[in-house]
Amino acid sequence: MQNKEITIAIDGWSSCGKSTLAKAMSQSLNYKYVDSGAMYRGVALYALRKGWASKNHLDKESLIAALPKINLSFEYNSSTKSSDLLLNGENVENEIRTLEVSEVVSKIATIKEVRKNLVQQQQKMGKEGGIVMDGRDIGSVVFPNAELKIFVTASPEIRTKRRFLELTNKGEQVTLEEVRKNLSDRDKLDTSRKESPLIQVDDAIVLDNSNLNQNEQLVLALSWVENYFDNKK
Ligand code: C5P
Repeated sequence: MQNKEITIAIDGWSSCGKSTLAKAMSQSLNYKYVDSGAMYRGVALYALRKGWASKNHLDKESLIAALPKINLSFEYNSSTKSSDLLLNGENVENEIRTLEVSEVVSKIATIKEVRKNLVQQQQKMGKEGGIVMDGRDIGSVVFPNAELKIFVTASPEIRTKRRFLELTNKGEQVTLEEVRKNLSDRDKLDTSRKESPLIQVDDAIVLDNSNLNQNEQLVLALSWVENYFDNKK
């Protein structure tokens, strides 16, 4: 008998390797992968382009009123073997990864109406199972009944270094200090916000990947999937 396709929820801090792990698991298991952070970044990019968001300012009302006009979807990119985010049909995968977007996204993610709108879309994407989704509230709010929940963590120094390399390899002019500050600001906002803050739920397995490479963390996480199915037998 074939195993039922399960739901895998991956949460954790900014830049701790959640998306890398989630993507790799989805490929190994042949499951759907959804990067929920990309969706928050898509809304942030929309607000930036409209002039509704900057480091020190946020026009919540205009953004909330525009939510029905913000259409987010994913398109498979065969060269990266991953999904790109489309904002109203435009591929914005590169634009949403800049430090400019990172600097406003967590503020936008505190807005209740934004969260409600995105959570509904995420739940729809996962209603058949066979999905790996990563974010901050996946195990707590989006899929509280997920069969496997993983909470990923890594030391702040390692996260800063990884994100710095990721951005500079893409040609962004950023300093290590800017990246460190952005990660620490987002961690603070994500854990202290009123609406579905980042928490480590009781039934999540903790994966500290400070000293693991990508393949090692994948092997470990896949062993937990195997355990799940073995325990079901
Ligand atoms: O995962 P990523 O770092 O791309 O997410 C960008 C931001 O979106 C996070 O810093 C967080 O503020 C927000 N987010 C969230 N809930 C999610 C995913 C992301 O609040 N499920």
